[in-house]
Amino acid sequence: MDRLVDRTVSANMFTDTSHDPLPTHVRTIVIGGGIIGASIAYHLSVAGENDTLLLESNVLGSGTSWHAAGLVTGARGTTTMTKLAKYGLDFYGQLEQMSGLDVSFQRCGSLSVARTAGRVDELLYAKDVADQQGVRTEWLTEDRYKELWPLATYSGVAGALLLPDDGHINPGHATVALAKLAHSFGTQIRENVAVLKILRQGDLVVGVLTDQGIVHCDRVILACGLWTRDLAATAGVKVPLYAAEHIHVRSAEISGAVPELPVYRDLDNSYYIRHEAGRLLVGAFEPDGLPRALEEVPSNGFAEFEPEWEHFAPIRAKAEGVVPALSSAGFDRFLNAPESFTPDANFAVGETSELSNLFVAAGFNSQGIIFAPGIGKELAEWVISGTPGFDSSSVDVQRFSGHQNNRKYLKARTKEGLGRLYAMHWPNLQMETGRNVRRTPLHGRLAELGACFGEVNGGERANWYGAPEHLPPMTTAMDARLGSTVSPRNIKRHVRVWSFSI
Ligand SMILES: Cc1cc2nc3c(=O)[nH]c(=O)nc-3n(C[C@H](O)[C@H](O)[C@H](O)COP(=O)(O)OP(=O)(O)OC[C@H]3O[C@@H](n4cnc5c(N)ncnc54)[C@H](O)[C@@H]3O)c2cc1C
Repeated sequence: MDRLVDRTVSANMFTDTSHDPLPTHVRTIVIGGGIIGASIAYHLSVAGENDTLLLESNVLGSGTSWHAAGLVTGARGTTTMTKLAKYGLDFYGQLEQMSGLDVSFQRCGSLSVARTAGRVDELLYAKDVADQQGVRTEWLTEDRYKELWPLATYSGVAGALLLPDDGHINPGHATVALAKLAHSFGTQIRENVAVLKILRQGDLVVGVLTDQGIVHCDRVILACGLWTRDLAATAGVKVPLYAAEHIHVRSAEISGAVPELPVYRDLDNSYYIRHEAGRLLVGAFEPDGLPRALEEVPSNGFAEFEPEWEHFAPIRAKAEGVVPALSSAGFDRFLNAPESFTPDANFAVGETSELSNLFVAAGFNSQGIIFAPGIGKELAEWVISGTPGFDSSSVDVQRFSGHQNNRKYLKARTKEGLGRLYAMHWPNLQMETGRNVRRTPLHGRLAELGACFGEVNGGERANWYGAPEHLPPMTTAMDARLGSTVSPRNIKRHVRVWSFSI
């Protein structure tokens, strides 16, 4: 079976309950049966909070979760994100045994390639963080690289990092496995129930209006993926998210494409490769993504867009240059599907500033499979204790300013969100899109004085002053991709503002 188009796995799994009338009151409602909602429901239930109702407008996993490439890793660019990711990797390793469902977890490792001096520094930094958190790592020699990935050329490689415990998982099956576990602990699950409105009284959520009636509750958790922004708006709550296309293609069969091949991350060339059934799956994190308005995303589940071969062509050429077998094999499947992005490419989690019993876990910027277990656990604890148990500052939904919820701004910014993951995360790196939206009255004067501006919460502020020839070398993701020779400077001091991929 083609694992990525297996759309039937959740059908009738919960038929014992799915036609019962909805309860009139529950303690907690989780909206969204993707991997995030399923994980939150599971972690709430194991913590003893089992008066929970999970509502899904289609079937479990039919939003963005089903078509993910399923790459999971134990390491990220910061200590906080690494801890969350590592929890997820360990969790997925046990999910099949816990749930009794085949989740196709393949612990093949991952190999991240550096093609510039700056990227070597970035990977070494990430290696340090991983080592501190007990994530196994190996810095590869040329021979070891060739041994692990004989299909890839070594030309242009400046360094490579192996994370031997990384791998990939079937994301749809993992979603259902989490839901099944939550259900076994008492969570009620209803597929084909759409929430139309969040009901509030004053500053509190009191329930939800669904297409099958009202359910009252003490708290609501929005885990509706790219639909979260508009549903939150029904209660006057701002969650800045916008959808963009995300692409992966699959080759025809290739001799040497074996399950043991580590996931290959060619960060400087904006793509990843993993094995799938004797073929290679190539996914793009292109610098110029294609934003999509919500109205353009089909709402009846398993949404896909038309293939965009032309848009994919530059990434394809790079991948074929590194793995020549791809060009002779050709590709037989193009998957183009929506994922949601936030203005700074970090996700949006936690209690909203507008309503104290309304929580959010959305906008996963193409990392929702990696973080689902970790965020499910942390959000469940946050909901129960009323306070985050981890350093939530980089992902807290309350970090955004209200004007960042503007659709024009979000659309402009989302063009960059996808590529941000694999971009070179230079110190002081700034987003290039959606700039100059909010400026102080002194902006012009500061510019005259030689200010170099950076953005904080959508507002422009002077980062430093100086004539251009005296400024520290400022580079961008694009420079890095073009093989800039600019010194990476002290990445270790600055790089942690970005939750980057390795
Ligand atoms: C092509 C592609 C490849 C990817 N590869 C990876 C990868 O390798 N690794 C990784 O970590 N991430 C990857 N991602 C990202 C990952 O798939 C997402 O971050 C993740 O699935 C988001 O999960 P979610 O639960 O937040 O959203 P969703 O899966 O979209 O779930 C939200 C659910 O809410 C439901 N819903 C919406 N509105 C309502 C409503 N009003 N009432 C009731 N229910 C509602 C929807 O039907 C949906 O099922 C990839 C994404 C794409 C598109």
